[in-house]
Amino acid sequence: MKDRFLYRLESLLDKGSLWVGSNVPGKYYTDETGEVGELEGVVLPSSVEEVRAFIQVAYEEEIPITPRGGGSGLRRGAVPSKGSFVLSLEKLNKIIDLDKVNYIAKVQPGVITAHLHRAAQEEGLYYPIDSLSSEISVLGGDVAENAHGLHGVRYGELRDYIRRLDFILPTGEIAHTGAVPMKSVSGYDMNKLFIGSKGTLGIFTEITLKLLPQPETTRTLVAGFRYLKEAAAAASAIITHLLTPSALEILDKSFIQFLQKNYRDSLPALPIPKGEALLLVEVDGFEDSAKQQLQRVENICQNHKVLEMLGDLSQDQEQRFWNARKLWSYKVLNSRRNQTSRPKISPEEDRSSVLFLSFFIPPADLGKAIEGLESILNQVPGSTTLFGHAGEGNLHAAVSFPSNQDFKFVVPSVCRQVAEIVYKFQGLYAKEYFIGMSPISTALSQRISPGLQEVFSQFKKKVDPRNILNPDKAWI
Ligand SMILES: Cc1cc2nc3c(=O)[nH]c(=O)nc-3n(C[C@H](O)[C@H](O)[C@H](O)COP(=O)(O)OP(=O)(O)OC[C@H]3O[C@@H](n4cnc5c(N)ncnc54)[C@H](O)[C@@H]3O)c2cc1C
Repeated sequence: MKDRFLYRLESLLDKGSLWVGSNVPGKYYTDETGEVGELEGVVLPSSVEEVRAFIQVAYEEEIPITPRGGGSGLRRGAVPSKGSFVLSLEKLNKIIDLDKVNYIAKVQPGVITAHLHRAAQEEGLYYPIDSLSSEISVLGGDVAENAHGLHGVRYGELRDYIRRLDFILPTGEIAHTGAVPMKSVSGYDMNKLFIGSKGTLGIFTEITLKLLPQPETTRTLVAGFRYLKEAAAAASAIITHLLTPSALEILDKSFIQFLQKNYRDSLPALPIPKGEALLLVEVDGFEDSAKQQLQRVENICQNHKVLEMLGDLSQDQEQRFWNARKLWSYKVLNSRRNQTSRPKISPEEDRSSVLFLSFFIPPADLGKAIEGLESILNQVPGSTTLFGHAGEGNLHAAVSFPSNQDFKFVVPSVCRQVAEIVYKFQGLYAKEYFIGMSPISTALSQRISPGLQEVFSQFKKKVDPRNILNPDKAWI
């Protein structure tokens, strides 16, 4: 059957759009988790019609498909399922339209997120969803994961910006949800069913997004504190004083060390405030408003034991702080994004393993919660860091285990203790990610009730009757 499938593919696609065997570059076997999958080949269509034709043939021959965007995902969504063909959307990378009058962008799924940011900015428009992986992730992957990022505190998440989705169903049928106008439907919001579906329900081929006017100005403040709990208390106060900065990040000494190593002695050197913890704050809006907001943030930090503030940075310096924030994320995750040869089957061999936790604490309680979280992490062997999008209360803890360590017993205990603190403050324990190691059950991540799970299983069966689309990824 595979030979017949390949024969049919060859008649559908150009030579450069189909790779099999040793021609397949290493990166297609994995994503940022480092887990290595098994694939039969990679298909890189150049048009929506080629995507449709490929899916139709795969459906007829019952060949599993693993959709792939930028491969920056942390949930194994683009790690190939056994026997699958990876469907990479990277050649569908056109910004089809930027409508300055109606604030709309139409893009193909392979557009790199940061390219859309820059193209929108050139037109005086603003696309605020800025995940820390935006230089490599693409819009199709972002929709499949409902990405969010630095500006969530003010601008929300990707699902808030989707107007219309065009996609191909696993049977090869062309479909869409939503519409371009702002208010176009009543009843069930079908867009939301497909956003975050991790490539299990359909392949996005065109995405229509709402944009905003570019804010007149953005200003950044970097504030250094002696302790992380003091930075957290200041972050809580910023939110509870009804200020909505466009970004509010809390970072511990691991980030400061990264700055010191890579930016302090660079030319021109970047000033780094005193302290063991930082708040990185961005405000935006009209010039006067941004100035006032910044002043109020400074006053709040003054009242919360700030050691030093940098509020008069040049645009270049501000940009370098935000770039550093993004680059440091790759370091925390021990990224292997430059993988060019086929990865080793056992990634643990050459990469330390990272347990990465994501959870939400009500922003007003950050100061109180952080002390407890720090005391848990201080007892864990291996290097740890605690940081996050403080404005949304979305914190992350990362524990990097040395390669010689048996962490299988430590992981569930760390997750359980963190979850206890999160629940104590009525927060949400969202998920643990296993980077460079096999997943370990902690029985803690948010689970859907069995009844609802059954409803969605039936829905998946209806949409994908032969279970070819990312077959083993529905509940990751
Ligand atoms: C350093 C780093 C920082 C990160 N920071 C953030 C952050 O701030 N916020 C955040 O939300 N996430 C973050 N992530 C996670 C990740 O980057 C995002 O989830 C991103 O949206 C994934 O996009 P991608 O194009 O790389 O998708 P991939 O990893 O290629 O795929 C992700 C999922 O989408 C599916 N998919 C891809 N394209 C399509 C398509 N056209 N149609 C249907 N399904 C498709 C895949 O099958 C897979 O299930 C970060 C990751 C890293 C490594």
